[in-house]
Amino acid sequence: MDAIPKIERAKSGRSSCRTCKQKISKDIYRVGIPYQFTKPDGEEITSYGWYHTECVPFRSITSVLKIMDNTFKRWLGKGRFSCK
Ligand SMILES: [Zn+2]
Repeated sequence: MDAIPKIERAKSGRSSCRTCKQKISKDIYRVGIPYQFTKPDGEEITSYGWYHTECVPFRSITSVLKIMDNTFKRWLGKGRFSCK
């Protein structure tokens, strides 16, 4: 299964951005780009590299836009934007 990028609020202030190397502050939105690596024992692991929203590498932008689009469509499908 392909891992997809994710967007979330930083749970801690400990991760740092892979583009600018600065810390990503707690509670601001960050983008996780998945990458896979194989451990010495052969197990495949998916991990995420984190970026500030403004620091996402260009080659990853289309996939990020795609999940944002899908999320948006899901919200629309649930009627979350309807007025009460
Ligand atoms: Zn950054």
